[in-house]
Amino acid sequence: MSTDRTARPVRGTHDLLGEELRRHRKVAETGRRIALRWGYEEIVTPIFEHTEVFARSLGDVSDIVTKEMYTFTDRGGDSITLRPENTAGVCRAVITLGLTQNLPQKLFYYGPMFRYERPQKGRLRQFHQIGIECIGAPEPLADAEVIAAGAHILEELGVLEATTLELNSLGDAESRARYREALVRYLEGHRARLSADSLLRLERNPLRILDSKDEGDRAVIAGAPLLEEHLNEASRSFFARVEEALARFGVRWKRNPRLVRGLDYYTHTAFEFTTDRLGAQGAVMAGGRYDGLVRTLGGPDVPGVGWAAGVERLALLLPEAPPAPRPIAIVPIGEAAEAEALTLACALRREGHVVELAFKGRPGQRLKRADRLGARLALSLGESELARGVVRLRELDTGREEEVARTDLTARLLPLIVTIS
Ligand code: ATP
Ligand code: MG
Repeated sequence: MSTDRTARPVRGTHDLLGEELRRHRKVAETGRRIALRWGYEEIVTPIFEHTEVFARSLGDVSDIVTKEMYTFTDRGGDSITLRPENTAGVCRAVITLGLTQNLPQKLFYYGPMFRYERPQKGRLRQFHQIGIECIGAPEPLADAEVIAAGAHILEELGVLEATTLELNSLGDAESRARYREALVRYLEGHRARLSADSLLRLERNPLRILDSKDEGDRAVIAGAPLLEEHLNEASRSFFARVEEALARFGVRWKRNPRLVRGLDYYTHTAFEFTTDRLGAQGAVMAGGRYDGLVRTLGGPDVPGVGWAAGVERLALLLPEAPPAPRPIAIVPIGEAAEAEALTLACALRREGHVVELAFKGRPGQRLKRADRLGARLALSLGESELARGVVRLRELDTGREEEVARTDLTARLLPLIVTIS
């Protein structure tokens, strides 16, 4: 293998092609299609933003901001960051475009995200997410709706059964402040066993420690007081209404009292769809309510709730890969037929068929290539066929052959039109 840098991709990036790309596309397209049905319109935002957009929204002690961002200074001297996630970008766009005049805004996105992480299966440095955001709805019904829409997408992909929805409430600001006190009291007693990162978090954002992946931290966390016991009445009632609506939507979940989200801006509902089929990378879709975010970014005080899902992880989970479209191969025999084949290929493509026409080669070679491409049919035409206005149609799976009049060809091939996504 070449060690030349120009011949290999950057670590943690990946070329997509063939079956892998079809899996990927299926996840993105299904996400878009189902989100649209739930009333979520697609938005495309830039893949880079001013660094402050992420630094301010994600919090300066989050793993993403401290370790994972691709940040650079551009030629104009501005600090720019490749987006590590898209909630901040979508909220920034909602502010920029003045969409807060017309709420709620229900938005879907799909696209690449960038994080400097240790690459492994299901963990890349350039990966893709689909996600939805419902901005401007304070009602618990909104939390339930975004979760149910997510579950619907997973169901449509055939992976819902492979996942568990874990659900928790982080409560409102008052509840979290109360809990924070109890948590800090507990953690102070276990300082010696906490990681350096968590000691820093203990000063700045102790709740974040609950999300730590460090083994020593995890052992301490196992004995920590539960958030649930510190929720005030308003937070409890909010969560109860989320649960009621979820039950209405037919969504099943498991309460996980230790689930917190890694980001500063979350309030109330936090959730994650996890799977045990992807090894250590178990989270496929994760989100929650982020009521303070739009204001943090300099917009009005507008609440929000949403989720993001890892497209590569979902693609790995798909029970089967979508099949490649099977082309119709045209096999001309002789010069006159070569010319006619161009006309025929063009006409069939306009009718919606996938058509393969090789640039050169003997009929035998062309048939071999057709076979390799998984062609369903070969249409051959030589002098005699031209003269009689017919083509020879060969079904490549069975070897069955028939002669079809050119005038009947459209009707004969109609059932074979495949929609390509
Ligand atoms: P993890 O705990 O796996 O690091 P996270 O909490 O950092 O995930 P989120 O920021 O919630 O992830 O992103 C939502 C989803 O995006 C994750 O559930 C996962 O499916 C996917 N995802 C996150 N980081 C990566 C990555 N580096 N490569 C591939 N997919 C990712
Ligand atoms: Mg992560």
